[in-house]
Amino acid sequence: MIRYKKSQKIPSSLVRGITANAANCAAFDASPAAYRAGSIKFDIKSSIYGTKTVKRQLKADQYSKCGFCEAIFDANVAGDVEHYRPKGAVTTATGKIHPGYYWLAYDWENLSYACPDCNEYRKRDQFPLVDEAARARDHHSDIAVEAPLLLDPYSGSDPRQHITFRGEVPYAQTPEGEATITLLALNRITLMRDRLDHLDTLSRLHESVRLLENDSRPEAIACVMKARAKLAAAVEPSAKFSAASADHLAELDAGRSYLPNDLPPPQPRR
Ligand SMILES: [Zn+2]
Repeated sequence: MIRYKKSQKIPSSLVRGITANAANCAAFDASPAAYRAGSIKFDIKSSIYGTKTVKRQLKADQYSKCGFCEAIFDANVAGDVEHYRPKGAVTTATGKIHPGYYWLAYDWENLSYACPDCNEYRKRDQFPLVDEAARARDHHSDIAVEAPLLLDPYSGSDPRQHITFRGEVPYAQTPEGEATITLLALNRITLMRDRLDHLDTLSRLHESVRLLENDSRPEAIACVMKARAKLAAAVEPSAKFSAASADHLAELDAGRSYLPNDLPPPQPRR
């Protein structure tokens, strides 16, 4: 997971969300008990937050990568517009909290682009905090007093300070890193296999450079140049698995390699 920079320009459909949000806030103030009990739910409109314009902009800001796992997955499946703070109810260790962060449903700052595995199957409506008592329960609350355990691809501290990689395996450096790896299953078998495959390719490129860098034949010089360019591109924010790639190449530069590992066979999805 890495930090992305969100476009300043807010997609047009979210501007419509300002009016819709004001109506939702007024509805909550008229019947707070019913919304808190979950007997009335907000009609959060994907025609506002999930439009092609919103998705296209987020996708561009994230170089077509999932904001959580850094996979480029859209050849096989469409991505989601993900709400960092859940727009509906929030599932906690002790049950569901209604009505969720309804007032951030159309907030550009609360949105990212994510793969279905991270968003729909793992994160869902979870949003753990260091201190549950500090949770913002309605639009009169201040989210700034919350200390989220889930890392945000767009704000807060840099995810790279919280999660590092050894080969294809993510390691938590902080409680936030631990919670994020666990919640999103960033060590799920399918993802680790993809990462391993990618890192193995980088290992081969690194090896080519090491073996040929003192070779003066023109074809060897050309091969080294191409390999170096590919290795440099692999750690750019636009590259898939760039965090794991950067950590792996640093290990290779130091003369160490954790690849290839013997992964267990794929398990059914949890
Ligand atoms: Zn993902």
